[in-house]
Amino acid sequence: MRPVTHEAPADADARRAAPAVICYPTETLPGADIAAYLEAYAGYRKTGEVIAQPREAASFHVPAGAVFRIISVEGPQVGDLNLWNANDLSERFYSGKTRALHGTHVSTGDRLWSVFPRLRPMATIIDDTLDWYGLDADGGGVHDVIGTRCDPYTGRLLGGGDYHHCCHSNLTRALAGARQMSAEEAEAQIHDVLNVFMCTGFTRDTGQYFMKASPVRPGDSLTFFAEIDLLGALSACPGGDCGSEHSSDVAPCYPLLVEIWEGDPPAGWSVPEPSAYDRSHGL
Ligand SMILES: [Zn+2]
Repeated sequence: MRPVTHEAPADADARRAAPAVICYPTETLPGADIAAYLEAYAGYRKTGEVIAQPREAASFHVPAGAVFRIISVEGPQVGDLNLWNANDLSERFYSGKTRALHGTHVSTGDRLWSVFPRLRPMATIIDDTLDWYGLDADGGGVHDVIGTRCDPYTGRLLGGGDYHHCCHSNLTRALAGARQMSAEEAEAQIHDVLNVFMCTGFTRDTGQYFMKASPVRPGDSLTFFAEIDLLGALSACPGGDCGSEHSSDVAPCYPLLVEIWEGDPPAGWSVPEPSAYDRSHGL
């Protein structure tokens, strides 16, 4: 706990008792018609698949209107996901705004939003086999948008050596390979992730980010509808199920499978428009 050096005012309890107000009520968001997505998906056919090998990342392309599924195979494994507009990498996943809109952990019906100035849904989660988990007694949940991604800089900051198979580096290599970029060019595009299958929360006493062994088991999956043309990259985190440590070769690590499915999208569906804000910012 941090030291307290200031005496609480007489009305401290009253100040603390102010009601919590949801920052971004989402009632005005256009709802995701999950039944319509699932009905369309039932008629799709599998058109591709890619494996993220343990402690490596794989890239994949998903056309707008297609579906991609991230599947646990062989053993419990966490995946770090980056998403870009396949036609313009400057439009990428915005984990912070997704968190502000949908909460610390995402599941069926939630959208993955893109950065300003477009701020539109890039993908919609249409199925989550771990939706039964909810929030556990520690306040932990699955599929978080609160972590960033394990990386060699923080590892070094905290006293570790150089480790090249953190998710940040795995994603960098995957993007560099997909787009024939240098490591430097690719690294600049890597962003905060969706932690697929990862079980995380904040400790109640110190507010610190924690992880615990993921409840994911082979056969579990998280399924997304691509709202725009997507380039994805998925890293099979060196933390494995993230029940002990990451940023090392210590944890047992397993592959993750990504399947791409294509077919006729739901009737009436179209690619979401970018934000209509005029970008004058009062000038
Ligand atoms: Zn990682």
